[in-house]
Amino acid sequence: MHEFALMDQILDTVITDAAGRKLLPVHEITLVVGELANIMPEALEMAFQVFRDSSRPGLSPEASLVIRRERGLVLCQLCNQQYEPEDGLVLCPVCGLPGQILAGQELTIEYYAGGDDHDQDPDAAACSGSQQPAGG
Ligand SMILES: [Zn+2]
Repeated sequence: MHEFALMDQILDTVITDAAGRKLLPVHEITLVVGELANIMPEALEMAFQVFRDSSRPGLSPEASLVIRRERGLVLCQLCNQQYEPEDGLVLCPVCGLPGQILAGQELTIEYYAGGDDHDQDPDAAACSGSQQPAGG
């Protein structure tokens, strides 16, 4: 199950980057996983939960993972036509030759969010009126 090792690397990359930008703890990560990447999104999510539940440093205990699938796109160099392969099969539907993969093999960290500065506790707004405009 190489998704576990992949998730480990992803978290390492994100948390290192977030630390440099003072955006710890990380509470949201969005990944783009190509349909031809030989990666099971379910396994990635499972690995993410394991790392989160084991209190990985830099990762919020309530962190969420979003996975977007990217459609595979293959070009047949004989027919010169592009097609979206079914079930990860890259054979041309017309001539049956393996095509050249144009898209769908990537694993990309598209977005992450983190940091403490977005507290939206409704109780925090209950105490108001302590600040008066200066002068007058
Ligand atoms: Zn073809």
